[in-house]
Amino acid sequence: MKNFKRVSVPVLEHIEQYPMGSSCPSFHITDQNSGWRVFKPVLNTEKCVACHRCYLVCPDGAIHPSESGKFEIDYEYCKGCGICATECKINAIQMVKEEK
Ligand code: SF4
Ligand code: SF4
Repeated sequence: MKNFKRVSVPVLEHIEQYPMGSSCPSFHITDQNSGWRVFKPVLNTEKCVACHRCYLVCPDGAIHPSESGKFEIDYEYCKGCGICATECKINAIQMVKEEK
């Protein structure tokens, strides 16, 4: 088993300390992968407080700011990993089973 070196991660206290988020629209950084998704995230825009957290953590850049000032999910590129739902601290994103 490989030994990984432990590093300390700084605590980020303000949104300005976070990275800029996805630098490209999702289709620039990944192939479409919606076909093998079992669960999909559903974002409740009424509950969302636009903290940007899901946008910053989505590994596929599939979450984008919307015209309403909230966020929307591009289901063509979302793979259903659930990271956004886990990281949303007010549970504004729920993972629901895909209907085929
Ligand atoms: S993490 Fe949750 S509250 Fe923050 S922008 Fe995403 S959906 Fe909205
Ligand atoms: S489920 Fe994963 S890929 Fe889909 S929007 Fe959330 S973090 Fe991105």
